[in-house]
Amino acid sequence: LGGTITRAIQQMSNATIIDEKVLNECLNEINRALLNADVQFQLVRNMQNNIKRIVNIDDLAAGHNKRRIIQQAIFNELCNMLDPGKPSFTPKKGKTSVIMFVGLQGSGKTTTCTKYAYYHQKKGWKPALVCADTFRAGAFDQLKQNATKAKIPFYGSYTESDPVKIAVEGVDTFKKENCDLIIVDTSGRHKQEAALFEEMRQVSEATKPDLIVFVMDSSIGQAAFDQAQAFKQSVPVGAVIVTKMDGHAKGGGALSAVAATKSPVIFIGTGEHMDEFEVFDVKPFVSRLLGMGDWSGFMDKIHEVVPKDQQPELLQKLSEGNFTLRIMYEQFQNILKMGPIGQGQEKESQAKIKRYMTMMDSMTNEELDSSNPKIMNDSRIMRIARGSGRQVREVMEMLEEYKRLAKIWSKMKGLKIPTRGDMNMR
Ligand code: GDP
Ligand code: MG
Repeated sequence: LGGTITRAIQQMSNATIIDEKVLNECLNEINRALLNADVQFQLVRNMQNNIKRIVNIDDLAAGHNKRRIIQQAIFNELCNMLDPGKPSFTPKKGKTSVIMFVGLQGSGKTTTCTKYAYYHQKKGWKPALVCADTFRAGAFDQLKQNATKAKIPFYGSYTESDPVKIAVEGVDTFKKENCDLIIVDTSGRHKQEAALFEEMRQVSEATKPDLIVFVMDSSIGQAAFDQAQAFKQSVPVGAVIVTKMDGHAKGGGALSAVAATKSPVIFIGTGEHMDEFEVFDVKPFVSRLLGMGDWSGFMDKIHEVVPKDQQPELLQKLSEGNFTLRIMYEQFQNILKMGPIGQGQEKESQAKIKRYMTMMDSMTNEELDSSNPKIMNDSRIMRIARGSGRQVREVMEMLEEYKRLAKIWSKMKGLKIPTRGDMNMR
């Protein structure tokens, strides 16, 4: 996604005449990328219209950092789409709150209930878990196991088949025990079925939860809007949790869930373990949504161009996060070693890489090994330009490219680095 967006923006800033046609082309490209990230069609169209309203064609034509203007507009717009305008109910420590979790089977409800309880327990709360899933065999055992591991009190039954009865009994029991966070796990179904929604309605009416959390698997793709809407129509959903963000899904469905439930995302699940759970933060999420393509593209490039025996070393450097100009130089060398593969675009970028390397040849070791772009002050830039027979503007362009790659690099730092085993499988 990020790659496509970057490319689209690149194309746009390369065009000499910025007019509505170019802006449209750029937006169309971004739309395709957002659709690929599972953002719903209607939402993509809304965003497109909003961007057109916000981005002032005259500003772009005047040439003030076009790339920045559009990038910022898209970023802001995606952030806005994730903000329903009002915060969700927030439980207060020491005061009893009942939180009910809903979602289809396999979305991650039971796991997320435990994570949510554990998260609060670590902060000194007294959480408790109620298993109101009488539909799936083994549901109570699963919750019991999770709860026992986290030392959280739980309630459920192997014999009672009425989820409403269990939910009410469980909530009453823990209210008496002065628990401040009573979490009700419910059953799901593989499909959106009338029986499930009726059951949710009954459990909700009987337990009167302070908050109903819709749990959504990030990999459900375009189905997110319908699913979230179906739940919202039967019970008053007030918050969303998106699970399995550690997988391949880009999480664009979160935008749909927010739009359908008019509720904010509060947490994301990032793994099967109890502590793989994060408070949802809009900006990093959107950055990730936009940066993912760049990241995987860059990764693929590394696999393509770096000799197999050097990959572990590079990936190690990468995980340490010190992206220096020297590493960029080395990567350029690798790319050039491959020789020109295509014509046109490819040839042009090879020429650009060579130009950048000439300029980097005029850099000192200190400059090449620093991961702090701030040391590149005006006098250094002028010296490099003079030394390489290039324009100051070109040196600055090269440094911009370095900053862009460094940003991608630093994003990769937090992500799982493939091991040697993973690479051999390719
Ligand atoms: P439920 O049917 O909605 O209660 O879903 P479960 O809690 O039983 O989860 C279904 C499966 O998804 C289980 O194998 C979980 O371990 C897994 N799961 C849940 N959340 C996450 C997550 O954030 N990341 C990953 N990788 N797996 C998850
Ligand atoms: Mg479950």
